[in-house]
Amino acid sequence: MTYIDAHMHYAGERPEVIKWLAQEDCKLLNIGGADHHGEAYRRLAKQHPDRYAWCTSFQLEGFEGPDYADKVIEGLKKDFADGAIACKVFKRLGMKLQDAQGKYAQIDDPIFDPIFSWLEAEGHTLLVHVADPIGRWKPLDEKDPYFEYFEKTPEGQMCNREGVPHHSDILAARDRVIERHPKLRVVGAHLGSLEHDLDALAKLLDKYPNFAVDTSGVRRIVSLFLTGRDKVWEFFIKYQDRIMYGSDRSVRDQLEMSEEKFQESFGELKAAFRSGWDYYTTDKTFTLKGYEVRGLGLPQDVLKKLFYTNAKKWYPGI
Ligand SMILES: [Zn+2]
Repeated sequence: MTYIDAHMHYAGERPEVIKWLAQEDCKLLNIGGADHHGEAYRRLAKQHPDRYAWCTSFQLEGFEGPDYADKVIEGLKKDFADGAIACKVFKRLGMKLQDAQGKYAQIDDPIFDPIFSWLEAEGHTLLVHVADPIGRWKPLDEKDPYFEYFEKTPEGQMCNREGVPHHSDILAARDRVIERHPKLRVVGAHLGSLEHDLDALAKLLDKYPNFAVDTSGVRRIVSLFLTGRDKVWEFFIKYQDRIMYGSDRSVRDQLEMSEEKFQESFGELKAAFRSGWDYYTTDKTFTLKGYEVRGLGLPQDVLKKLFYTNAKKWYPGI
């Protein structure tokens, strides 16, 4: 089956990777812009348009400065003219970026609004990753499926810190942007940061027809597994037009890597694909991040949407 991985940061420039993607008949949407990383994504989308597409982003630095939004829009115009098919907002906005008074900036700040109005008017898609898994706002718990990730990045832990926004504040700001721009296609990365609460996500999808989500990445499969198979199955059936597959692997500077390191990163890519494939397409039981996960075994027509049609619809031009 032809399929699209709609959430990637994979600068897979080695011929082995391109060849493998062709064998699998797979296309990756790489996400990132305005940095060294983004350059590789731009280049790959040009050199291998069958295998790679590119979603750009914009600088948050200087967001309080004069003409900030105009400058961002100028940059985005160039990126879209140069092959970008969507624009992403990273979670720094909401969790890290502070204004001159030390207040955490949120995505619904009027400063950013002209950018979203421009994307809306141009018919471009906005991919939004704001907030982190909910465990960031709780004391560290070894049983949390994201424990390893939280431990590795302690600076992102929000629990017991004064003046930081809550998970719900950050998501509410995003929801106001979706509401303010009803013609803007908004894709919420990582199940809209509601991987722990499909009921809340269902409410959002019901309320905003211009909102969809991606499933990135591998750990979200564990979150879904912990939610319970029947509930997840029903969710994927009911919202079959609003969910896109993504595995969120990350690789850079592959051309300069040692052979050993390259094989490791390539193996990770294949393993991520296999986990996604096993979980969504089969009902077999397999081990993932220490959990015995049973696949959903979704119907063929739903799989076709999850792995292909929805990405085509929500990211025109992909
Ligand atoms: Zn990502």
